[in-house]
Amino acid sequence: MNILASLSCKDELHLVYGGLSNVAALRVNTILASGAIPMLVQDTSVDKFPVSLRALIEEEKVQWVTKSYSKEQLITLGRADVGSVVDRVFVCLDSDDISLKSEISADCKRLRIPVNVTDSAPLSSFTLLSSYSAGDFQLGVTTSGKGCKLASRIKRELVSCLPPNIKDICNRVGELRQQLKECDQQETGDDDDDAVNSSKLNSLIREFDMSKEQQAAQRARFLSQVVEYYPLSELANLTIEKLSKEYSVTKELDDTQAAAHSSESTVKKGSISLVGAGPGSVSMLTLGALQEIHSADLILADKLVPQQVLDLIPQKRTRLFIARKFPGNAERAQQELLELGLSSLLKGEKVVRLKQGDPYIFGRGGEEFLFFSSHGFTPRVLPGITSALAAPVFSNIPATHRDVADQVLICTGTGRRGALPDFPEHVDSRTTVFLMALHRIVDLIPHLIKEKQWPADLPVAIVERASCPDQRVVRTTLSMAAEAVESLGSRPPGLFIAGRACHTLGGDLKEKWTVEEGCASASIGGLLEKLAHE
Ligand code: SAH
Repeated sequence: MNILASLSCKDELHLVYGGLSNVAALRVNTILASGAIPMLVQDTSVDKFPVSLRALIEEEKVQWVTKSYSKEQLITLGRADVGSVVDRVFVCLDSDDISLKSEISADCKRLRIPVNVTDSAPLSSFTLLSSYSAGDFQLGVTTSGKGCKLASRIKRELVSCLPPNIKDICNRVGELRQQLKECDQQETGDDDDDAVNSSKLNSLIREFDMSKEQQAAQRARFLSQVVEYYPLSELANLTIEKLSKEYSVTKELDDTQAAAHSSESTVKKGSISLVGAGPGSVSMLTLGALQEIHSADLILADKLVPQQVLDLIPQKRTRLFIARKFPGNAERAQQELLELGLSSLLKGEKVVRLKQGDPYIFGRGGEEFLFFSSHGFTPRVLPGITSALAAPVFSNIPATHRDVADQVLICTGTGRRGALPDFPEHVDSRTTVFLMALHRIVDLIPHLIKEKQWPADLPVAIVERASCPDQRVVRTTLSMAAEAVESLGSRPPGLFIAGRACHTLGGDLKEKWTVEEGCASASIGGLLEKLAHE
């Protein structure tokens, strides 16, 4: 596997050998777009060049050296400030110039000058990606030399899936991150009174008493979760003002609440159901849940409920509200959701509270049941397939298995107010599934091993986005799990399974960890469309 990199080439000097084909013109244009200076080396008359290259020479966009190749060129034609060594070499010679191509490639490699030889991966020290740019957003695809037409086709298909405003999205997120940085600097700087932005940002994460360092970390988590879960195309319009408006319980909402409560005794005719939506894939939605989705006036969904499921909501009839729960404002967002549900119920509407997985597995479903019941609306509760039991299946882990595991425990890695919860003792015949644990895994693992005497070599699996096309399964041992998460990064939501069942069907682990990507078995193809037409 190669390292994919984005090279900043501004003001560099790039040599291009060849010029008789259109490829040289393409390379020159790519070099120009990157802000580098192209220099063409070709000993021929100008009328041999393709028209596009001739035009670039006439417009003096590319310097032309009328010489044949010599090794000295590599160390004399470059910028003075780097000892005249050229920064990069592109070889676009005719395909029958094999020996010259090999000579240039070998010279460059010896001099540590990055070299690209068209259509020859073995002679190149770097290859070009089939790329797409929209402002600062860039996408590149490579098939590692297997087929540039294929790479280009895949790139086009990927680009067609992007929101049209991807450039603005990219800019906006960059600006927000910059504001966050400035706010962190203001807070650690002397002039605290100046922190206007900082107070706006802090209003988003007001939940607990926090030190300045904790606030800064929480703000960063807040933004990264907004980037992860907010509808992609809407990220372009996000501002700190909008965030603080959207994520605070506003006066408007308080007013609606007051109006709703005052009429509570008179109207009561709405109905509510708490519905589990499964772990992610539409194929995991029950028919009962689908029926509820199709008969709702208002759907209150968790931010984790995936787009594929939300796409099933009839847009004309049904309003959708997605919980604005992000680190630091979970309590207020939960309250907001309950109040919205209640005011809709008081208007006589059918409310469906759509929850990720199963409503009663770490979903606060019980609290919601009590809240609505206490206002006279007893919810109907429909189970969903919990991620805790689906993830083992999708990662080929039999949660119970004769002579290996005879019990399953589902627990959380996050206690109240961010503390570690009281973890269970180790039981050798048990499969334990930890939800909400991956962001705490660095604290959790040593705690299990040292305080609770869990065996360091216990097989574990980290399953992220279970049942979704971008599912990832990492298999390792307990002592390696934190290192694996740290080096691979996270792909939320994810959970962590520990127990001997983790390696039962897969055989022994030979490396520190293994990574499996994708989940084909959750696809239901065009079944829903087919049903809709029959
Ligand atoms: N009620 C949900 C759990 C809510 S708690 C259920 O029954 O699945 C949220 C946690 O669930 C996340 O932090 C993550 O640990 C887990 N989770 C939810 N969906 C997941 C998925 N598709 N893959 C892996 N973990 C998931």
